[in-house]
Amino acid sequence: MTTYDTVISGAGPAGCSAAIALARKGYRVLLLDKARFPREKVCGEGVTAASAALLEALGVMELLRQRPGNLREFNGVTIVSPGGTLLQGRIVQGGALKERSYIIQRRALDECLVSCAREYPAITFLDNTSVSDLLMEGDRSLGVRTTAGDFYGRVIIATDGVYSPIASRLKLLNQVKIHQGFAMRAFFSGVEGLGDSIELCYDKPLLPGYGWLFPFGSKRANIGVFLLTRFTDQRNLRRMFERFITESVHASAKLRRAVMEPGTLKSWPLPLGSFPGKRSQGNVLLAGDAGSFIDPVTGEGIYYALKSGSYAAEAAARVLGENCETDASGRYEQLWREDFAYRVYAIGYGFQPFMNNAWFVETFMRYTARKQNRANLLADVVAHNRPRRDLFRILNPFF
Ligand SMILES: Cc1cc2nc3c(=O)[nH]c(=O)nc-3n(C[C@H](O)[C@H](O)[C@H](O)COP(=O)(O)OP(=O)(O)OC[C@H]3O[C@@H](n4cnc5c(N)ncnc54)[C@H](O)[C@@H]3O)c2cc1C
Repeated sequence: MTTYDTVISGAGPAGCSAAIALARKGYRVLLLDKARFPREKVCGEGVTAASAALLEALGVMELLRQRPGNLREFNGVTIVSPGGTLLQGRIVQGGALKERSYIIQRRALDECLVSCAREYPAITFLDNTSVSDLLMEGDRSLGVRTTAGDFYGRVIIATDGVYSPIASRLKLLNQVKIHQGFAMRAFFSGVEGLGDSIELCYDKPLLPGYGWLFPFGSKRANIGVFLLTRFTDQRNLRRMFERFITESVHASAKLRRAVMEPGTLKSWPLPLGSFPGKRSQGNVLLAGDAGSFIDPVTGEGIYYALKSGSYAAEAAARVLGENCETDASGRYEQLWREDFAYRVYAIGYGFQPFMNNAWFVETFMRYTARKQNRANLLADVVAHNRPRRDLFRILNPFF
């Protein structure tokens, strides 16, 4: 019977980030995924500058650049206000990061993540292997039960997404509606008027949600709508999507001759980081969507999956080195909370009512659109190239 240093369930961005970080420190990792790669993942496919910086450090951007056609840079952010004001900001790289922002097809992104992980001899990767449960001995987990048998590890990291069986088993899964979002997306061909900006539409009929058009190629786009789950009782997401593509003045003009690519209309939940619960127990750590880490304002999840995966690896490495595996939980909670809990999640949750208020969004957008440097700063913040607190600079009338 082999006991790995760490068993990781799920090989998306969170799982691969954790696996690579541990392998680089010399630990033996078993990385499992129920899908056969390459596989699809329902996503808007927006990769911010902050995510791209983490992917660069993992070696994934290099691999993606060798496969042209899978990534496309975006250099601007266009936002449509409820009253139709058009705010067109350019990403001027005014922030700390010098990375670019991209739209990257998830099939390719996740395949490259897995390819990078496979290059490490310390990582054993098994796809087509579904994890169903934890093997427990008292408070401590010994490993996981899977379709390919039982596997043992000193630390277990669950990165198996929003329906994580491990988070479920430990009763740590986010099932609280006010801390969840839902989104629906499809790919369209024949879209007109696409540039090199991502487009976010806060049309009045969509509030308290929003729609997006993320260009991929001159006439192809990933198009979708996002809504906080607590509003899905009053709102049907499918109807909201249809209204967006047919009634939104901005979107419908671009979609006049477009066709939806068959089989691409899909919806999927987004577990938000504002969920107040713990993300770990003993020697089991939850990262990415399994641990509910998505930005509650923008819906950005790839960055927080990569980052929480690396924090899980850091916590695991510390306890593995000191032979005190059940302390992993305390170390992990400290690491992720210090970085995101207040700055991103608590503030983001407090900001949500403003983003759902047509008067506030309209007033803010009009004021910001009046000066190009304000619009550019907002674009930099949306592209995660600047901290959100920089938005206060916009309020300075002399800026
Ligand atoms: C419609 C939509 C649009 C979005 N748009 C964006 C965007 O534009 N930008 C952005 O940054 N974020 C976006 N997000 C969020 C982002 O997709 C997620 O936050 C991110 O994919 C989380 O990564 P992860 O590694 O935690 O999980 P996932 O990417 O979901 O990977 C989980 C992995 O676990 C595997 N798995 C599942 N169950 C098991 C099991 N039982 N056993 C073994 N393996 C299992 C799956 O096969 C999968 O490979 C969007 C989400 C949605 C739904």
